[in-house]
Amino acid sequence: MWFFIGPKVVFGEDALDYLEQIRGSKTLIVTDRIIVDLGIVDKVKDKLKIAGIECEVFDEVEPDPSDVTVMRIVDKLKSYEPDWILGLGGGSSMDAAKTAWVLWENPDKRMEDINAFTPVMVNQKARLITVATTSGTGSEVTWATVVTNTKEHRKMILMAKEIVPFAAIVDPKLTVSMPPKLTAVTGMDALTHAVESYINSWKNDFSDALAMRSIQLIFEYLPRACMNSDDMEARTKMANAATMAGLSFGNSSVGIAHGVAHSVGAVFGLPHGLVCGVALPYVIEYNISTSAKFLAELAELIGIKEQNEKKAAKMLADRTRQLMMEIGIPLSLKESGIVEKDFKENFGRLIRMIYEDASATLNPRSFTREEIEKIYQCIYYGKEIDF
Ligand SMILES: [Zn+2]
Repeated sequence: MWFFIGPKVVFGEDALDYLEQIRGSKTLIVTDRIIVDLGIVDKVKDKLKIAGIECEVFDEVEPDPSDVTVMRIVDKLKSYEPDWILGLGGGSSMDAAKTAWVLWENPDKRMEDINAFTPVMVNQKARLITVATTSGTGSEVTWATVVTNTKEHRKMILMAKEIVPFAAIVDPKLTVSMPPKLTAVTGMDALTHAVESYINSWKNDFSDALAMRSIQLIFEYLPRACMNSDDMEARTKMANAATMAGLSFGNSSVGIAHGVAHSVGAVFGLPHGLVCGVALPYVIEYNISTSAKFLAELAELIGIKEQNEKKAAKMLADRTRQLMMEIGIPLSLKESGIVEKDFKENFGRLIRMIYEDASATLNPRSFTREEIEKIYQCIYYGKEIDF
């Protein structure tokens, strides 16, 4: 038995107006300082005012939110007792809001108890709305969250089928303030979601359809969105593509590129989307031996005409590198600024983390210890994978 799980998605320019229609009395907005400074929180407040709903703001979510921050939001929920929670921002704010929501609704549970096999209670105290201000993480529609365990310096992936927002608002107007670099990095995260979802062991017809369209849109519109932040057509297509990729991998899974991003993110603090992007062409090459057919299907979707599946799959990796060069994404971890000495010193730790990461273990081609070490070396030094 399979499920396709997702929230109501409100999309297109002015989708934020949807907030004027909701009914309730109190909302806690969970966000970060940048979103406040950009004036987006004020826009949200205006909409809630029209709906007759009062609100308070928690604006201290940091990139890669920590368990400590999440618990502070839980305390805020306990004292304020809102009937709506609004996760507003990129993946970090939305993940922090989602996790705090579940913990507040389930006071008997600890963060590490949230897993795909144990049901959790939600919607008893408040409902959740996610509002995406970047086009990448897909967190607005997924039932997973990533929280940093501060004691153990590792990222925890928490999942529960019930962690589905009441609605996800995908308004491209909220993404125009993203600088080109952030647009590029988040866009590569979305592309990695779509590609890894399409070749994953848990892929299915529903996730495939969303991944396919998403990949087409990203190759076509990401360079335009990076070049001109006011290009509303490109912003709209990227916003839709990122949410579709989120629905896709949320109902399938991801693979090694995400395992690499989680470990490199935890050890070196590099942004998630950046590492996903850097790793993606190498992970495509590594998976050719098991997934050439699927990768060739994706290659065809972006206009690559090659009958030989393995060659087409390799061309998809090359075309991905070309896209990265166009939008200013480095082609290796070394180019991303990780010093060789630090990489070597932390190598054992990175490999260990890959084995603890559910994303990597669901990769279509299962890897040996020797292979994963070689994959990491290739991603670090920028050497194409041919094994
Ligand atoms: Zn991701």
